[in-house]
Amino acid sequence: MKLSRKGFFKGLALGTISLPLFLRSLMSENIAQNQQGGPNVISGKQYNWKMVTTWPPNFPILGEACQHYADLVKEMSGGRINIQVFGGGELVPPLETFDTVRNGGAEMGHGAAYYWAGKIPAGQFFGSVPFGMNAQQLTAWILTGGGMEMWEDLYKDFNLVPILAGNTGVQMGGWFNREINSIEDLKGLKMRIPGLGGKVLEKAGGAPVLLAGSEIYTGLERGVIDATEWIGPFHDSKMGFPEIAKYYYSPGWHEMGTALELIVNKEKFESLPFDLQAILRTASLRISTWVLSEMETKNAEVLASLMDQGVDIRPFPQEVIDQLRIYTNEVIEEVTANDPIAAKVYASYDAYRKRAAAWSEWTEKLFYTKIQS
Ligand code: CA
Repeated sequence: MKLSRKGFFKGLALGTISLPLFLRSLMSENIAQNQQGGPNVISGKQYNWKMVTTWPPNFPILGEACQHYADLVKEMSGGRINIQVFGGGELVPPLETFDTVRNGGAEMGHGAAYYWAGKIPAGQFFGSVPFGMNAQQLTAWILTGGGMEMWEDLYKDFNLVPILAGNTGVQMGGWFNREINSIEDLKGLKMRIPGLGGKVLEKAGGAPVLLAGSEIYTGLERGVIDATEWIGPFHDSKMGFPEIAKYYYSPGWHEMGTALELIVNKEKFESLPFDLQAILRTASLRISTWVLSEMETKNAEVLASLMDQGVDIRPFPQEVIDQLRIYTNEVIEEVTANDPIAAKVYASYDAYRKRAAAWSEWTEKLFYTKIQS
């Protein structure tokens, strides 16, 4: 039976067409309109999925967000998707998250792009770039500035669908047992600092050291490292760094707003009905807002308490910042020189960053310098 939409409404009003038939008809129109994705059929089929993560089990805020996400997806889907969340090491080691999801060992994963920078260098621009965009700007580039299309394009060759899933906000520069008064003070500095930030430190004559989260405290206490960055006051205090480091420097020039990501196995994602695909994407937006809000609330609370305790909190000298920016540009040139995809992504990133910076000169910057007291 084929009826025009007008005929349908008339039929509905007269009671000659049942509501389920009407809904099915609307859905078949949606199928024709929707060019990609799985079947647009609301079915009772249940999906039991696994999410592997790069975070230690129950890691505050970031790990918690994954569980909130699973709960929310279950609620929104009326129990049709059950996601079991695994902390790093519970199902696979944290850094195997990427390959596990790609190969279908788990349907989805949560982490940050710099954990898989060795596999996709261009992916780092969707996570964190030293001297790059903050949370607001990066989110805007990804969601409405053309970033998302490039991100999906980049990950599809790895059989993955990326979904933006949180941001840490501006991080702190880290805990140091050495005063940093000039760029010379970074020479020979052994510091736990991952990703592009580590490469920048190398250019300054420092030595980035790779340490798992659980090894950092002892490393700093015993002088295996002279400094470490982590996240911000809340997480850093939980790690015990205020007890064993002399100076807390700011800002985290290497992470001005690190985006977190959900990665979903592309075939598994596309096998879902459209409504469930939409639920996975939409729930992630809510979690993103929650993560950033929780970071803001907890970091502000703990910073106040660190100040009360008399922790020596200092800004990096301008000279140090200026020189690190020069080294950063060199590192980015190296990353993009022989990688046309990375060069294309960075060109879009940097063009957006420049426009956003010019806009914020007249808005955010005046808020921070003239309005906020
Ligand atoms: Ca960090």
